[in-house]
Amino acid sequence: MKDDAFKVQLFRFIDVLPSLRDDSQVARLMEEYFGESAAVASPLHWGLRAVSATRLGARLSAKALRRQIQQLATTFIAGASVVDAAPALARLWKEGRAFSVDLLGEATVSEREADLYRDRCAEALRLLGEVTAGWPPSSLLERDHLGFIPRINLSIKLSALYSQLDAIDPEGSYRAVAARLRPILDLAMRLPAGLTVDMEQAELKDLTLMIFMRLLSEDAYCAYPHGGIALQAYLKDTASDLRRLADWVRQRGNPITVRLVKGAYWDSDMIRYRQRGWPVPVFDSKTGTDANYEALTRLLIEHASILRPVFGTHNLRSLAHAEAAARAAGLPTHACEYQMIFGMAEPLQAAVVQLGRRLRLYTPVGELLPGMAYLVRRLLENTANESFLRKEYVESRPLSVLLEPPRAAEPGVMRADRLVAAHAEPVPADRFRNEPHTDFAQRDARDAMARAIELVKGRLGQDWISPLSCAVQTAGSMLVSVDPGLPTRIVGRIREATPEDVPLAVRQALDHFQDWSGTPPDARADLLCRAATGMRRRRYELAAWEIFETGKPWREADADVAEAIDFLEFYARQMRRLGRPQRLGEEPGELNHLVYAPRGAVTVISPWNFPLAIPTGMVSAALVTGNVVLFKPSERAPLLGALLTEVLAEAGLPRGVLQLLPGGPKLGEALVGHPDIQVVAFTGSQRVGLEILAQGSRVAPGQRWIKRVIAEMGGKNAIIVDDTADLDEAVVGVLSSFTGYQGQKCSACSRAIVHEAVQELFLKRLAEAVMSLTIGPAEEPGTRMGPMIDDRARAKVRDYIEIGKREGRLVVERRVEGTGYFVGPVVFADIQAAHRLAREEIFGPVLAVMSAKDFDEAIRLANDTDYALTGGLYSRSPVNIAKARERFDVGNLYINRPITGALVGRQPFGGHRLSGVGAKAGGSEYLTQFMTARVVSENTLRRGFAPEE
Ligand code: NAD
Repeated sequence: MKDDAFKVQLFRFIDVLPSLRDDSQVARLMEEYFGESAAVASPLHWGLRAVSATRLGARLSAKALRRQIQQLATTFIAGASVVDAAPALARLWKEGRAFSVDLLGEATVSEREADLYRDRCAEALRLLGEVTAGWPPSSLLERDHLGFIPRINLSIKLSALYSQLDAIDPEGSYRAVAARLRPILDLAMRLPAGLTVDMEQAELKDLTLMIFMRLLSEDAYCAYPHGGIALQAYLKDTASDLRRLADWVRQRGNPITVRLVKGAYWDSDMIRYRQRGWPVPVFDSKTGTDANYEALTRLLIEHASILRPVFGTHNLRSLAHAEAAARAAGLPTHACEYQMIFGMAEPLQAAVVQLGRRLRLYTPVGELLPGMAYLVRRLLENTANESFLRKEYVESRPLSVLLEPPRAAEPGVMRADRLVAAHAEPVPADRFRNEPHTDFAQRDARDAMARAIELVKGRLGQDWISPLSCAVQTAGSMLVSVDPGLPTRIVGRIREATPEDVPLAVRQALDHFQDWSGTPPDARADLLCRAATGMRRRRYELAAWEIFETGKPWREADADVAEAIDFLEFYARQMRRLGRPQRLGEEPGELNHLVYAPRGAVTVISPWNFPLAIPTGMVSAALVTGNVVLFKPSERAPLLGALLTEVLAEAGLPRGVLQLLPGGPKLGEALVGHPDIQVVAFTGSQRVGLEILAQGSRVAPGQRWIKRVIAEMGGKNAIIVDDTADLDEAVVGVLSSFTGYQGQKCSACSRAIVHEAVQELFLKRLAEAVMSLTIGPAEEPGTRMGPMIDDRARAKVRDYIEIGKREGRLVVERRVEGTGYFVGPVVFADIQAAHRLAREEIFGPVLAVMSAKDFDEAIRLANDTDYALTGGLYSRSPVNIAKARERFDVGNLYINRPITGALVGRQPFGGHRLSGVGAKAGGSEYLTQFMTARVVSENTLRRGFAPEE
């Protein structure tokens, strides 16, 4: 605990240990984690090296290590099963300690696993009923001021009861969780047993409370007096939640138990909310949490006539405060319960028992080695919580310090404090920050999205005219945009431009070139920022249009609008930087300036799959650099293209500078081929990209420049899952990477390269997860997967599914009924490098799984493709992670996370090989492609005299 670096290594090692199959692998990982670590005390260091140097040594040290950790695990885990744990539980009872069993297990990634958890809970209750039946009665443990308390108590996690649990969809989540919880509750009422709902990540807090209250309001459970819920003091909202609970309990008429804890997800909540740019819901210091704990303690005690107060803490001060507050309120001593964790803070446990108070131990039950890994994961998530234990037992501070009121400063105790301090530094006002995605755990956000969907629904089917449409298009027919989830529903119509319109459109645009290129760069940047403001104002509406026009589920649509805003803000800032002449060299007598100048007319040709973000990025880059733009959105998402021009017009873009030309490939060809075009910015398929590159390189008679073609093309992206991967994360990460937006992302995962040792388990869990995904209309909040963009796309995917059936082994094929262009996810295994499924971009939810016998082969397979766009790795081997960093040849590599969702500025995006040519979008070099660089050098020495510069 004293050595942070070593502690993290050790915890991480324990986390990976259960997944290691043989002794040599344990020895290898031991070497990887500790071999080079200077942090390891040297005798241990040398010992580890010596024993792992030989095969015999490896076996001995691996065995010894497993045994030691198993031994350690028995301190914190009461048994591998309820039956195993029975003697430990009985012993506790004899010592005057009650229990609440917590069933350890892996994360629930599928409905089958959720069923399993439900069954395990029920089974645990039944067994506990048998195990505890013969125990002697205890007036201390089985009675409080409100009456009888069952000796059986189980803590449950709602996230384990439903694989699709998501605050974006409270109704669907309620239905699914309640269906699995009811049989458990029925049993708990019969036995009787207490059932406490654990509180998990902050994002699930409101949902958890809602489900708990709603279920316990149902007629069948309204009278059940032993339901409980945990509340976390580190959340700033908890006081109002507690009041809300109290109001509800008053109406319900029967008590519930409230377990007040500090909270176990402080680090992860803090990090996640910060990463997403959301207001952090937790107190940013431990003292803040401790102070809140005391305030909540008093509040809970105030409501002790209807809420059974339980204090879950290992903090001496918090315990003492609860005791004093209860006494001050005149509560009888058996009104309050104290809870601690099995195996932790023994002296405090003993003290509470000795005082004659009711103590209940939160008691993990599960397989020892994996169980230890889960516990360690909790500890890792929660370094903040450990600090008190550390002070008390490791550093042995005097009582006066330990009992200090929480407002007193605690310099340098917590990593947490450092984390906060690092972020608290002032940031320059003009620094780019990503537009936060919407937090759909907030009711306001859900309501706003639902309202926008209704609003847009009312406007479907109309004819569209963009203020920036090119002036001529008279001959073109109407492009009809339909909802891919319900193709009979017309989203809107817009007049197509034809190849014949191109010359005039180009001329009209170029007529504005002089004015626009002469507009100061800062003014052009300001325009982008105003457009960003406009998009923010219309954020939900724009997302709603995407939902209807392209079948994007809520979060995907929302993220696309956020990314569009990011491009505007980011490129605006980049232009302010590049717009200033840059002085080169410092030598006297010469003045060297690098300046950038716009090129002229830019054609932007965009795809439909990020229907706002991608065109916004290309169009805004071309505009802010002073060019005029001919913009052809995809014929499969023309309305979003039109909306972009509308936003830019509202922001004040002069007419003529940007010409909107809706239409298809022929129009695109005419735009690329026009001799007055200087730059083509294209994002789309490899086939079209290569054609454009070829066409663009031809110089027409009289054309005085070589066209610059920026082409962002497809991918055949792989995720490697090695034999040390955390399958809880790998399954979820691969699933979301290959099914997110139905696999229609250039960054999507389409190959999973899995170590043969873990392949079958991985496939089993993945297949079950595939069968659990919520697939349906994009406008439903709970939908994780919507339809394909159109019939053509669906037919292509179906063709590949047939090819896959010939080439590989079908692992799972999810069939989806419905009138829309739906295709369920499909997974094939045993795909070989030469197979079409391993080589061709499918652009749909089809995953080719390839097996690798070791990591080097996995990297070789991953790199064996024409593409180099994104790639991913799930691994807990430091050596493999380092190898991937060096050798996995892709434009964007993601380690231990999904491979889609690159953020502007933070993860500039783009590939090489046949995935693209050009600088990364959302990166600092992107804009220079739209300009020519000129260097002007002036000799400032005239007649022997040079002015000061
Ligand atoms: P696509 O190539 O079919 O179409 C892209 C655009 O090119 C459309 O506007 C289309 O009308 C136009 N077009 C088609 N033929 C043309 C021609 N001969 N001349 C000029 N223009 C022509 O691609 P798509 O289906 O719209 O998008 C999916 C593809 O885009 C996938 O391959 C995906 O990987 C790729 N993509 C790449 C990135 C990236 O950043 N690398 C991002 C998104 C999509």
